[in-house]
Amino acid sequence: MNTLQGVSASTGAALGPFHVMATALPKPSSIKTALTSQQERENLTRAAKAIADELRDRSLRTSGEAQEILLASSEIAQDSALLSEAEALIDKGHSAAYAIWEAAEVFSALLTQSGGYLVERASDVANIRDRITCVLSSVGYPEIPHLDHPFVLIARDLSPADTTDLQPGQVLAIVTEEGGPTSHTAIIARTLGIPAVVACKGVVAAAKSDLSGKVGVDARGGAVTFDPSAELENELAALTATIEIRRAHKPKRPSDGYTTTDGITVPIYANVGRLDDVQAAVNAGADGIGLLRTELLYLDRQTPPTLEEQCDIYRKMFTPFKGRKVIIRTLDAGADKPMAFINFAHEPNPALGVRGYRTIVINEQLLNTQLKAIADATSASGADVWVMAPMITLPEEAQKFVALAKSYGIKTVGVMVEVPSAVLLADDITRVSNFVSIGTNDLGQYLHAADRESAQLAMFNDPWQPALLHAIHRVATSGSAHNCSVGVCGEAASDPALAAVLIGLGVTSLSCNISTLEDVAQAITSLSHLEMREAANAALRAGNAKDAKTFARGHLHKLSTLGL
Ligand code: PEP
Ligand code: MG
Repeated sequence: MNTLQGVSASTGAALGPFHVMATALPKPSSIKTALTSQQERENLTRAAKAIADELRDRSLRTSGEAQEILLASSEIAQDSALLSEAEALIDKGHSAAYAIWEAAEVFSALLTQSGGYLVERASDVANIRDRITCVLSSVGYPEIPHLDHPFVLIARDLSPADTTDLQPGQVLAIVTEEGGPTSHTAIIARTLGIPAVVACKGVVAAAKSDLSGKVGVDARGGAVTFDPSAELENELAALTATIEIRRAHKPKRPSDGYTTTDGITVPIYANVGRLDDVQAAVNAGADGIGLLRTELLYLDRQTPPTLEEQCDIYRKMFTPFKGRKVIIRTLDAGADKPMAFINFAHEPNPALGVRGYRTIVINEQLLNTQLKAIADATSASGADVWVMAPMITLPEEAQKFVALAKSYGIKTVGVMVEVPSAVLLADDITRVSNFVSIGTNDLGQYLHAADRESAQLAMFNDPWQPALLHAIHRVATSGSAHNCSVGVCGEAASDPALAAVLIGLGVTSLSCNISTLEDVAQAITSLSHLEMREAANAALRAGNAKDAKTFARGHLHKLSTLGL
């Protein structure tokens, strides 16, 4: 047996043969080309167009997120800035293959430096580079194979365009050497319900040197085992059977909401960022929306959305949850989500810079327009709309935001707690807010001074880290003292076992990924509030994330019997 440890990117388990994705071509030589620059330019144009057309055709055969990813990738292949950069290199005597490679490197480096969401775009650019290089070299691009048996897919990294071809019945699990829990691979795997482990160091080399041809994946804890023992095989086989049975018997959302076995109601909301997500959230049995990330609607805009445009999309997003709760967040721009229509000065460290609520100091009109649009859309939709601001650092910011939003007629106003100062000042913040929502993704990175996108630092961003659990407990305690509800909308709420612990820590609602909502609901409805409190107390005694999980699970036996 050879067990490697990665980071869990979705739940589930798998056992079976594996396939290692071939890597694309190496970097082309910089030796000057024998062709004229005109010929090389034509070759580049032809290859780029072929890739753009192919990806667009593939997008027409799919829908939803996969379609959007393929269309975005197709646009990169025709991006004029990328192609002009390559043409400039061709004019210096280089081959089209070398030129596109170099140009893509420049673009990828800029995107990687920006961090966050843009790191994902860097991998999109790298994938387009590989595809164009393959066409120029008359070599087939290494796509995910269609084998005659199911297999575990192992890769250094998977591009968004690669993953749109994944077939859940064929691919038992995905394990990648790179990527993080918020990478595209992770998102697609969760959407398709495929178990996935990312940031698994050494997995490609281990797969290549393995002689057994078999691998076991327990995505719940991120363990990947080559040549598994008979005992582990039996364990994984039992686990996959349990998961299959449980998923085949999904409970429907009770009309009065989800309750623990001892009768405590726990609202379970969904995180959404696109119009399509809203219907998916209804179908998944969400009690409402717990985080509407408005910036995701406008990331590609050059100009600010007008009042009418905003009002229209918000109304469409609120209406399916008429009579239920929708928590909408004002624009969380900056750092990993820069927006062209917000004027950012160059910042050496954007994650610690002008982002989230801080941007409105210089763009106040933007916030006023957004609050007006939200207020108008609320009255037109019949939903119970709550509004919150991201990246609040001080109680006085919370107080100012609450007063401003209320001046637009918005009744329930709160803030996100995702900065350590807001945890330490939670008493004052919960006193002036109607509710708070804990953003564990940012709170985890700021508490541990560890970039949330870094695969290398993924362990600090493990949402089971005791410091994060203590912080959540502190905020929940303050909220309860000031009659201020405390939800969690970061990724922590999407882990079924951790979701139970959060409730045990005193959190009153959860907002999770649509794809994991049913698993979270099954966890919450199969346990008592008492068990959750015991699990939370045990986790608080741990000194590291692994122990916190182990100690907590010791009180949550029912979850193992459900394969959660
Ligand atoms: C968070 O930080 O946990 C959060 C929900 O906000 P985002 O992931 O959009 O930064
Ligand atoms: Mg955040």
